[in-house]
Amino acid sequence: MSVAPSACDFAPVTGEAPAKPSLVGLTRAQLGDALRATGVPERDVRMRVSQLWHWIYFQGASDFDRMLNVSKHLRKDLDARFTLARPAMISQQVSSDGTRKWLFRLAPAPGDLLADKARGAEIECVYIPESDRGTLCVSSQVGCTLTCTFCHTGTQKLVRNLTSQEIVQQLVAARDQLGDYPGLTPPSDGLIPSGEGVRAVSNIVFMGMGEPLYNFDHVCDAIGILSDGDGLSLSKRRITVSTSGVVPEIPRLGEQAGTMLAISLHAVRDDLRETLVPLNKKYPIKELLQACRDYPGLSNARRITFEYVMLKGVNDSPADARELVRLLKGIPAKINLIPFNPWPGAKYECSDWDVIEQFSDIVFNAGYASPVRTPRGRDILAACGQLKSETEKLRARARLMED
Ligand code: SAH
Ligand code: SF4
Repeated sequence: MSVAPSACDFAPVTGEAPAKPSLVGLTRAQLGDALRATGVPERDVRMRVSQLWHWIYFQGASDFDRMLNVSKHLRKDLDARFTLARPAMISQQVSSDGTRKWLFRLAPAPGDLLADKARGAEIECVYIPESDRGTLCVSSQVGCTLTCTFCHTGTQKLVRNLTSQEIVQQLVAARDQLGDYPGLTPPSDGLIPSGEGVRAVSNIVFMGMGEPLYNFDHVCDAIGILSDGDGLSLSKRRITVSTSGVVPEIPRLGEQAGTMLAISLHAVRDDLRETLVPLNKKYPIKELLQACRDYPGLSNARRITFEYVMLKGVNDSPADARELVRLLKGIPAKINLIPFNPWPGAKYECSDWDVIEQFSDIVFNAGYASPVRTPRGRDILAACGQLKSETEKLRARARLMED
């Protein structure tokens, strides 16, 4: 007997949504539900989930017909109900340094508030190749509710949280584009790590749009899929979640997700941090650093990264650097100095290079690795804090239409 997909899990959300939902990005439990909905007997569900898991995540299959160890009959049934679609790639920009910025359009979902109900929200995703690694910067929300004053994404109102499926789909879609699945050909620009056993995407950072700890459950489920050894198989030590300081969720992140942690610190005094990262009013520096000291699994081999954006004349004095070192005493830490990336309308400037160097020297001499993060992809507005998709324009249009 075949059972129709259950309304809550698999029915299209809005009128024009694709008739068939995608299986790509689902958890094992969700895949199990999809198989049950297709009529797979309970005794076979586990085995079938393992097969689909391998094809979807390890092989990157985008066609049920490739799944040769799945019976023809089941492949046909699955194809009748589901797809293996990824989010649509709306645009790709390639920077001269090989950085790629993709704009992906998601399937429509409740809460999108877009003018065109059939058109899903859009999110940006950035890929940064280096000689020994390839890092994918993923988004966890469309927009952000926090309003850090130096961040372009912060000027975009939250449209909604991404589902775990949508978070995982960013990696699958990126690997498609990078030819990082068996049978695909990598782009030939020579800037993407490739070769025997080399992965184009070896690291994931949750540093795209949104505050990941405000979308905890979906981020956590996504991390479970990204790190599953039978599929995408990324080590949790190569997955970093960056937070502006949502203190109550930090212990849970360590316990449940077990990833690396990055803290967007940016200031060493509460009064200044309150203006840069308004969330500091709720969770001041002292509480934030205590949560860091208590972070499960913290050790010299698993340090916390502290991000510090260099803002000219605002937070970049030698005294700031010395205070930073004092504050972090006793915490296994790396300090990542980020040159401020300007965006249209921003009220800050990037610190001068000699000032950044002086700051970095103080931190380095105190015993901390203090790499200055080379701005990547600036020519395509893909650097940190520059992400802001077209969704907001659509949202504004929707408001106009509703008025
Ligand atoms: N919301 C999370 C993760 C996304 S922001 C967080 O705030 O940590 C990713 C990183 O980019 C953060 O450290 C953020 O402070 C930094 N960032 C934001 N805007 C920036 C800009 N214009 N220039 C440089 N870094 C920026
Ligand atoms: Fe949101 Fe992070 Fe930008 Fe702050 S820095 S507005 S938390 S995305």
